[in-house]
Amino acid sequence: MGKPVFKRVMLKLSGEMLGGEKGFGIEGDALSFIAGEIAEAQKLGVEVSVVIGGGNIWRGSTAAGWDMERANADYMGMLATVINGLALQGILETKYNVYSRVMTAIHMQELAEPYIRRKATKHLAKGRVVIFAGGTGNPYFTTDTAASLRAREVGADVILKATKVDGIYDRDPTNDPTAKKFEKLTYLDVISKKLKVMDATSITMCMEAGIPICVFKLDQPGCVSNAITGQSEGTLVQ
Ligand code: UDP
Repeated sequence: MGKPVFKRVMLKLSGEMLGGEKGFGIEGDALSFIAGEIAEAQKLGVEVSVVIGGGNIWRGSTAAGWDMERANADYMGMLATVINGLALQGILETKYNVYSRVMTAIHMQELAEPYIRRKATKHLAKGRVVIFAGGTGNPYFTTDTAASLRAREVGADVILKATKVDGIYDRDPTNDPTAKKFEKLTYLDVISKKLKVMDATSITMCMEAGIPICVFKLDQPGCVSNAITGQSEGTLVQ
């Protein structure tokens, strides 16, 4: 195992990563694998923050055609991220003995700390994994944008975007075997080519702050640590 090339990382986990093969709900093995990856990464001595999505439970866009206001549906999505955050915290602490804090953008103090930037950075400096839940706290945004926002706020050196694909391709590699993988891209490439990796708002935020994004496949043991030590075979956006 190499040396970390980053000091403070932001791991962006889509909700579907917790849903295992199906991508829905929470699957015990998938959750345990992810928590184990975080525990291993922490042993490298890096500070680990996590933004977790909610798409395995609910997405705001699902409400289109349901005669439901988008904002209402988006708040449901933000709550879904809190369920995922608590699940991850539970297994991190009980199974892996990793101290963590869930901080929510929407206050629900009985079950998690409200997000306060200075508290978050203190937790990270003390070696606690900080799981940011509730997205940005605002409808019409995504948890990718929450990851860019929080990464910038806490001074993360990189966003590690864990996906089911091993990097960014010019076309969807699951439907097209001739799709070509990019080793490196600029932020503007991602926006102008409309590559489906993170939404434009989140990419722009990273571009403004100069935060690199490493897109990698979350499947093999050690994949998160490899991304932290610069040994990932994913795509680097910077
Ligand atoms: N969401 C939101 N504001 C945010 C972040 C998320 O309204 O700042 C809602 C939105 O409805 C979204 C859902 O929460 O569809 C789940 O987040 P996301 O789709 O980003 O999760 P992921 O795809 O990463 O699982």
